[in-house]
Amino acid sequence: VQPLLSVAEARQLLLERFSPVEAEPISLGQAAGRVLARAIVSELDLPLFANSSMDGFAVRAADLHGAAAGRPVQLRVVADVPAGQLSPVPVGGGEAARIMTGAPLPAGADAVIPVEDTDQYRPGNLTAVPAPGNVRVFRAVGEGAYVRPRGQDVRAGEVVLTTGARLRPQDVGLLAMLGITEVPVYRRPRVAMLSTGDELLPVDIPLLPGKIHDSNAHMLSAAVIQDGGEAVYLGIAPDREEAVEALLEQAADSQADLIISSAGVSVGAFDFVRSVVERRGRLEFWRVNMRPGKPLAFGRYRQIPFIGLPGNPVSAFVGYEVFVRPGLLKLAGREEGARPAVRVTLDEALESDGRESYLRAVIRLENGRRSASLTGHQGSGNLLSLVQANALLIIPSGVKSLPAGAEVEAWLFGEL
Ligand code: AMP
Ligand code: MG
Repeated sequence: VQPLLSVAEARQLLLERFSPVEAEPISLGQAAGRVLARAIVSELDLPLFANSSMDGFAVRAADLHGAAAGRPVQLRVVADVPAGQLSPVPVGGGEAARIMTGAPLPAGADAVIPVEDTDQYRPGNLTAVPAPGNVRVFRAVGEGAYVRPRGQDVRAGEVVLTTGARLRPQDVGLLAMLGITEVPVYRRPRVAMLSTGDELLPVDIPLLPGKIHDSNAHMLSAAVIQDGGEAVYLGIAPDREEAVEALLEQAADSQADLIISSAGVSVGAFDFVRSVVERRGRLEFWRVNMRPGKPLAFGRYRQIPFIGLPGNPVSAFVGYEVFVRPGLLKLAGREEGARPAVRVTLDEALESDGRESYLRAVIRLENGRRSASLTGHQGSGNLLSLVQANALLIIPSGVKSLPAGAEVEAWLFGEL
């Protein structure tokens, strides 16, 4: 009999068996949520040209020396520069060009004076006013005022996004600024999954006495998709060795990067998953010192990593969070993505059995402090308690009880 592995030992063993899948190109429009397979180096300065940050007049700062409300400086307007156009003429001494936000700064100009600081300010009547022949300026500005210089944001040659980043909307925006239409990303890892158990019926079949719906497969598929994988559901294997083997064979044939199953890994009379995996692959461990989810198998089926999750829905979920998700993130090439771990304060005393325990809880922000209270009945078949939770509390192994007010670590699932 193997010694009981700690969660950390088991996870390390498991992660050693995973490496990122290969890359593929994806169009920018499909890139959100995908994981960069190489760093993006800018080929451009951004902004690419010095431009105005205000609607106003491009000027030479030296011309405005001493300008004030009671002592305006008058400049001759020699050009009108909307965004998207170059000034046809440079700005010389005593001259100005009307300019709009984002328009290129004309040659000769070194600053912009906002329209609000001139006699051309017309609150409430802003559209289609032709450029004036002259402008009176009521204020002096320094060189560079209201000018966004070339390269202020990004320099050509700079690394702007790193390998392993999951692309967010702002990342996609930056790629678009750089004119990148195709992005190298890791392929989505394929996760084949099967459920085992004579009691299971597909969700669209009405229940019969003693039967339950296969909920694990749907919960796990949702998790895989949310974490950037592709879920391939293979169905339900009844509690017979040949049936379990047939579905595992199908999983291995489906070119999966990872196979996960739920139930049938315990020591029950009909738990065949372990023996089938041992016969056609290798089992590295099948028990972990945690609660819920002690019967949890890891190995490979043929050459594909295999994780056998417990059957109880909460145990399957916790097993997913603790083992499948980290493995999937590694397959997906992600550098980050671990659940944010925060310290929280217990609202109530709690008991544990000495195994590393994952408890469902609601975390609330109260007076700048995160307080945690357990949800519902913590039985590992009770999914509502997980539905009502926004975090898992982690009670370290060796701890049997904690008083109200104690601090523990928690994994947050979403916004508070
Ligand atoms: P087992 O690991 O086979 O002993 O199953 C443990 C518990 O999980 C039993 O109550 C099963 O009915 C339940 N269970 C197993 N598979 C599923 C599933 N796919 N969906 C929901 N509950 C399940
Ligand atoms: Mg069973």
